[in-house]
Amino acid sequence: MKIDLVHFCRFSVANGHHRSIGRQRLVGVIGLGAALILLNSCSSSAHAQSAATTTTTTMTAHVAATTTTTTTTTTTTTTPAVATLPAGQPLAGKVVGIDPGHNGLNYTNPGFLDQQVFNGRTMENCDTTGTQTDSGYTEALFNFNVAQYLTSDLEAEGAHVVLTRSTNSGEGPCVDQRAQILNSAKANVAIDIHADGGPSDGRGFAVLEPVADGPNDAVVTSSVAFGSDVLASFEAITGMPLSTYDGTNGISFRNDLAGLNLTTVPKVLIECGNMKNSTDAALLTSTAQQQRAALALASAITDFLR
Ligand SMILES: [Zn+2]
Repeated sequence: MKIDLVHFCRFSVANGHHRSIGRQRLVGVIGLGAALILLNSCSSSAHAQSAATTTTTTMTAHVAATTTTTTTTTTTTTTPAVATLPAGQPLAGKVVGIDPGHNGLNYTNPGFLDQQVFNGRTMENCDTTGTQTDSGYTEALFNFNVAQYLTSDLEAEGAHVVLTRSTNSGEGPCVDQRAQILNSAKANVAIDIHADGGPSDGRGFAVLEPVADGPNDAVVTSSVAFGSDVLASFEAITGMPLSTYDGTNGISFRNDLAGLNLTTVPKVLIECGNMKNSTDAALLTSTAQQQRAALALASAITDFLR
Protein backbone atom coordinates (compact mmCIF):
# COMPACT_ATOMS: atom_id res chain seq x y z
CA MET A 1 0.00 0.00 0.00
CA LYS A 2 1.32 3.35 -0.95
CA ILE A 3 1.52 5.62 2.03
CA ASP A 4 1.71 9.36 1.69
CA LEU A 5 4.36 10.24 4.21
CA VAL A 6 4.47 13.97 4.69
CA HIS A 7 6.64 14.63 7.66
CA PHE A 8 5.79 17.74 9.59
CA CYS A 9 9.19 17.87 11.25
CA ARG A 10 11.11 18.19 8.03
CA PHE A 11 13.22 21.27 7.74
CA SER A 12 14.92 21.75 4.44
CA VAL A 13 17.27 24.66 4.94
CA ALA A 14 20.82 23.46 4.57
CA ASN A 15 23.33 24.47 7.18
CA GLY A 16 26.99 23.93 7.74
CA HIS A 17 28.10 21.19 10.05
CA HIS A 18 29.74 22.81 13.03
CA ARG A 19 30.64 21.14 16.24
CA SER A 20 32.01 24.01 18.24
CA ILE A 21 29.31 24.32 20.89
CA GLY A 22 28.33 22.07 23.69
CA ARG A 23 31.87 21.02 24.50
CA GLN A 24 31.69 22.09 28.10
CA ARG A 25 28.48 20.19 28.55
CA LEU A 26 29.90 17.26 26.63
CA VAL A 27 32.71 16.90 29.11
CA GLY A 28 30.15 16.98 31.88
CA VAL A 29 28.14 14.20 30.32
CA ILE A 30 31.14 12.00 29.77
CA GLY A 31 32.16 12.64 33.35
CA LEU A 32 28.72 11.64 34.52
CA GLY A 33 28.80 8.51 32.45
CA ALA A 34 32.17 7.49 33.77
CA ALA A 35 31.19 8.08 37.35
CA LEU A 36 27.94 6.24 37.43
CA ILE A 37 27.18 2.58 37.34
CA LEU A 38 24.75 1.35 34.75
CA LEU A 39 21.64 -0.13 36.24
CA ASN A 40 19.28 0.13 33.33
CA SER A 41 15.89 -1.45 33.56
CA CYS A 42 15.52 -1.60 29.75
CA SER A 43 18.03 -4.26 28.97
CA SER A 44 21.33 -4.93 30.50
CA SER A 45 22.83 -6.16 27.27
CA ALA A 46 21.86 -3.16 25.21
CA HIS A 47 23.63 -0.74 27.47
CA ALA A 48 26.59 -2.93 28.14
CA GLN A 49 28.46 -2.03 25.03
CA SER A 50 32.00 -1.26 25.88
CA ALA A 51 33.59 2.04 25.12
CA ALA A 52 36.40 1.39 22.80
CA THR A 53 38.65 3.32 20.54
CA THR A 54 39.71 1.61 17.37
CA THR A 55 42.75 2.83 15.58
CA THR A 56 43.46 1.69 12.08
CA THR A 57 46.79 2.40 10.52
CA THR A 58 47.23 2.11 6.82
CA MET A 59 50.66 2.31 5.29
CA THR A 60 51.04 2.90 1.63
CA ALA A 61 54.38 2.80 -0.07
CA HIS A 62 54.90 4.92 -3.15
CA VAL A 63 57.90 3.74 -5.04
CA ALA A 64 59.31 5.95 -7.75
CA ALA A 65 62.27 5.38 -10.01
CA THR A 66 64.69 7.41 -7.97
CA THR A 67 63.01 7.96 -4.55
CA THR A 68 60.95 6.00 -2.05
CA THR A 69 58.25 7.76 -0.02
CA THR A 70 56.18 6.15 2.71
CA THR A 71 52.88 7.73 3.66
CA THR A 72 51.14 6.80 6.90
CA THR A 73 47.46 7.51 7.37
CA THR A 74 45.81 7.04 10.74
CA THR A 75 42.06 6.84 11.11
CA THR A 76 40.51 6.83 14.54
CA THR A 77 36.92 5.93 15.26
CA THR A 78 35.39 6.02 18.71
CA THR A 79 32.32 4.11 19.75
CA PRO A 80 29.86 5.88 22.03
CA ALA A 81 30.92 6.29 25.65
CA VAL A 82 29.52 3.83 28.13
CA ALA A 83 26.63 5.64 29.72
CA THR A 84 24.80 4.70 32.83
CA LEU A 85 21.76 5.66 34.80
CA PRO A 86 22.45 7.38 38.09
CA ALA A 87 22.23 5.28 41.20
CA GLY A 88 19.31 5.86 43.49
CA GLN A 89 16.22 7.79 42.50
CA PRO A 90 17.30 11.32 41.66
CA LEU A 91 13.98 11.98 39.88
CA ALA A 92 11.73 11.00 42.77
CA GLY A 93 8.83 13.42 42.94
CA LYS A 94 9.41 14.67 39.40
CA VAL A 95 6.94 14.43 36.53
CA VAL A 96 8.36 13.90 33.04
CA GLY A 97 6.27 14.19 29.88
CA ILE A 98 7.06 12.13 26.79
CA ASP A 99 5.41 12.66 23.42
CA PRO A 100 6.29 9.91 20.90
CA GLY A 101 5.37 11.61 17.63
CA HIS A 102 2.68 10.26 15.25
CA ASN A 103 1.01 6.87 15.76
CA GLY A 104 1.16 3.50 14.04
CA LEU A 105 -2.25 3.66 12.40
CA ASN A 106 -2.32 7.34 11.47
CA TYR A 107 -1.90 6.37 7.81
CA THR A 108 -5.23 4.55 7.84
CA ASN A 109 -7.31 7.64 8.53
CA PRO A 110 -6.50 10.70 6.38
CA GLY A 111 -9.74 12.33 7.44
CA PHE A 112 -8.67 12.23 11.05
CA LEU A 113 -5.24 13.65 10.22
CA ASP A 114 -6.70 16.45 8.13
CA GLN A 115 -8.76 17.90 10.98
CA GLN A 116 -7.63 21.45 11.58
CA VAL A 117 -6.33 22.37 15.03
CA PHE A 118 -4.81 25.57 16.41
CA ASN A 119 -1.06 25.24 16.91
CA GLY A 120 -0.60 28.45 18.92
CA ARG A 121 -0.05 30.64 15.87
CA THR A 122 -2.22 29.23 13.10
CA MET A 123 -4.30 26.26 12.07
CA GLU A 124 -2.65 23.04 10.99
CA ASN A 125 -3.43 19.36 10.50
CA CYS A 126 -4.26 17.29 13.57
CA ASP A 127 -1.29 15.00 13.00
CA THR A 128 0.73 13.37 10.21
CA THR A 129 1.84 9.85 9.39
CA GLY A 130 5.51 10.54 10.10
CA THR A 131 8.29 9.37 7.86
CA GLN A 132 9.87 5.94 7.37
CA THR A 133 13.11 4.38 6.18
CA ASP A 134 13.43 3.29 2.59
CA SER A 135 12.85 -0.27 3.78
CA GLY A 136 9.60 0.70 5.47
CA TYR A 137 10.54 0.97 9.15
CA THR A 138 8.21 3.67 10.38
CA GLU A 139 9.10 6.70 12.41
CA ALA A 140 6.00 6.08 14.53
CA LEU A 141 7.47 2.77 15.68
CA PHE A 142 10.91 4.24 16.29
CA ASN A 143 9.44 7.07 18.36
CA PHE A 144 7.29 4.64 20.34
CA ASN A 145 10.18 2.26 21.06
CA VAL A 146 12.47 5.03 22.28
CA ALA A 147 9.63 6.37 24.43
CA GLN A 148 9.12 2.96 26.01
CA TYR A 149 12.81 2.56 26.83
CA LEU A 150 12.94 6.11 28.14
CA THR A 151 9.91 5.49 30.33
CA SER A 152 11.65 2.50 31.90
CA ASP A 153 14.82 4.50 32.47
CA LEU A 154 13.01 7.43 34.05
CA GLU A 155 10.84 5.25 36.25
CA ALA A 156 13.98 3.49 37.44
CA GLU A 157 15.19 6.93 38.49
CA GLY A 158 11.98 7.52 40.43
CA ALA A 159 10.13 9.79 38.00
CA HIS A 160 6.42 9.75 37.28
CA VAL A 161 6.12 9.55 33.49
CA VAL A 162 3.19 10.84 31.46
CA LEU A 163 2.93 9.70 27.83
CA THR A 164 0.77 11.17 25.07
CA ARG A 165 0.14 7.71 23.66
CA SER A 166 0.59 4.29 25.22
CA THR A 167 0.51 2.09 22.11
CA ASN A 168 1.68 2.19 18.50
CA SER A 169 -1.55 0.70 17.21
CA GLY A 170 -3.83 3.72 17.26
CA GLU A 171 -4.44 7.14 15.71
CA GLY A 172 -3.35 10.47 17.14
CA PRO A 173 -3.90 12.21 19.43
CA CYS A 174 -3.84 15.53 17.58
CA VAL A 175 -0.77 17.67 18.13
CA ASP A 176 -2.61 20.28 20.21
CA GLN A 177 -3.93 17.56 22.50
CA ARG A 178 -0.44 16.12 22.91
CA ALA A 179 0.73 19.47 24.23
CA GLN A 180 -2.33 19.77 26.46
CA ILE A 181 -1.79 16.33 28.00
CA LEU A 182 1.71 17.25 29.15
CA ASN A 183 0.65 20.74 30.24
CA SER A 184 -2.17 19.30 32.33
CA ALA A 185 0.25 16.85 33.91
CA LYS A 186 2.33 19.85 35.01
CA ALA A 187 5.42 18.03 33.83
CA ASN A 188 8.68 19.38 35.21
CA VAL A 189 10.14 18.81 31.76
CA ALA A 190 8.97 17.15 28.54
CA ILE A 191 10.43 15.75 25.34
CA ASP A 192 8.88 15.24 21.89
CA ILE A 193 10.57 12.25 20.22
CA HIS A 194 10.84 12.12 16.43
CA ALA A 195 13.12 11.05 13.61
CA ASP A 196 13.39 13.09 10.46
CA GLY A 197 12.64 12.49 6.80
CA GLY A 198 15.43 14.67 5.48
CA PRO A 199 17.57 14.63 2.34
CA SER A 200 19.15 11.24 1.70
CA ASP A 201 22.65 12.70 1.79
CA GLY A 202 22.06 14.47 5.11
CA ARG A 203 22.95 12.93 8.43
CA GLY A 204 22.46 13.44 12.10
CA PHE A 205 20.20 14.64 14.89
CA ALA A 206 18.78 18.06 15.67
CA VAL A 207 17.13 19.62 18.71
CA LEU A 208 14.12 21.80 17.89
CA GLU A 209 13.40 24.56 20.40
CA PRO A 210 10.46 26.93 20.98
CA VAL A 211 10.11 30.58 20.03
CA ALA A 212 8.11 32.80 22.39
CA ASP A 213 4.53 33.18 21.21
CA GLY A 214 2.45 33.89 24.29
CA PRO A 215 1.38 30.50 25.68
CA ASN A 216 4.99 29.28 25.92
CA ASP A 217 6.62 32.56 27.02
CA ALA A 218 7.38 31.40 30.55
CA VAL A 219 9.23 28.26 29.45
CA VAL A 220 11.31 29.36 26.45
CA THR A 221 14.44 30.10 28.48
CA SER A 222 14.23 26.86 30.45
CA SER A 223 13.51 24.91 27.27
CA VAL A 224 16.64 26.30 25.64
CA ALA A 225 18.66 25.26 28.70
CA PHE A 226 17.14 21.78 28.50
CA GLY A 227 17.96 21.69 24.80
CA SER A 228 21.62 22.20 25.59
CA ASP A 229 21.49 19.22 27.94
CA VAL A 230 19.79 17.10 25.29
CA LEU A 231 22.26 18.05 22.58
CA ALA A 232 25.34 17.34 24.67
CA SER A 233 24.03 14.08 26.08
CA PHE A 234 22.73 12.76 22.77
CA GLU A 235 25.95 13.51 20.96
CA ALA A 236 28.08 11.91 23.67
CA ILE A 237 26.03 8.79 24.27
CA THR A 238 24.47 7.83 20.95
CA GLY A 239 27.31 8.43 18.53
CA MET A 240 24.84 10.12 16.17
CA PRO A 241 26.43 13.27 14.66
CA LEU A 242 24.90 16.72 14.74
CA SER A 243 22.63 17.29 11.77
CA THR A 244 24.41 18.26 8.59
CA TYR A 245 21.28 19.92 7.17
CA ASP A 246 18.93 20.99 9.97
CA GLY A 247 19.50 24.04 12.15
CA THR A 248 22.81 25.49 13.28
CA ASN A 249 25.14 23.47 15.47
CA GLY A 250 22.34 20.95 15.89
CA ILE A 251 19.82 23.52 17.17
CA SER A 252 16.79 24.76 15.26
CA PHE A 253 14.32 27.31 16.64
CA ARG A 254 10.81 26.56 15.38
CA ASN A 255 7.62 28.58 15.61
CA ASP A 256 5.48 26.21 13.53
CA LEU A 257 5.11 23.20 15.81
CA ALA A 258 2.13 22.86 18.12
CA GLY A 259 4.11 20.86 20.64
CA LEU A 260 6.49 23.77 21.14
CA ASN A 261 4.09 26.66 20.52
CA LEU A 262 1.53 25.48 23.06
CA THR A 263 3.77 24.13 25.78
CA THR A 264 3.61 25.56 29.27
CA VAL A 265 6.29 23.17 30.53
CA PRO A 266 9.98 23.16 29.52
CA LYS A 267 10.15 21.12 26.33
CA VAL A 268 12.17 20.47 23.18
CA LEU A 269 11.64 18.19 20.20
CA ILE A 270 14.45 15.94 19.07
CA GLU A 271 14.90 14.56 15.57
CA CYS A 272 17.00 11.55 16.54
CA GLY A 273 18.45 11.09 13.06
CA ASN A 274 17.48 11.04 9.41
CA MET A 275 15.47 7.97 8.41
CA LYS A 276 16.10 8.75 4.73
CA ASN A 277 19.88 8.45 5.12
CA SER A 278 21.11 4.87 4.87
CA THR A 279 23.75 5.23 7.59
CA ASP A 280 21.36 6.87 10.02
CA ALA A 281 18.60 4.40 9.13
CA ALA A 282 20.78 1.43 9.97
CA LEU A 283 21.41 2.96 13.38
CA LEU A 284 17.87 4.13 14.07
CA THR A 285 16.33 0.76 13.38
CA SER A 286 18.62 -1.07 15.80
CA THR A 287 17.43 -1.86 19.30
CA ALA A 288 20.81 -0.90 20.72
CA GLN A 289 20.63 2.57 19.21
CA GLN A 290 17.05 3.08 20.34
CA GLN A 291 18.09 2.21 23.88
CA ARG A 292 21.13 4.48 23.68
CA ALA A 293 18.84 7.28 22.51
CA ALA A 294 16.59 6.67 25.50
CA LEU A 295 19.52 6.64 27.88
CA ALA A 296 20.84 9.88 26.41
CA LEU A 297 17.48 11.55 26.91
CA ALA A 298 17.21 10.19 30.46
CA SER A 299 20.66 11.58 31.25
CA ALA A 300 19.71 14.98 29.83
CA ILE A 301 16.45 15.03 31.79
CA THR A 302 18.31 14.10 34.95
CA ASP A 303 20.91 16.80 34.36
CA PHE A 304 18.16 19.36 33.82
CA LEU A 305 16.04 18.44 36.83
CA ARG A 306 18.58 18.03 39.54
ZN1 LIG B 1 8.03 13.18 13.22
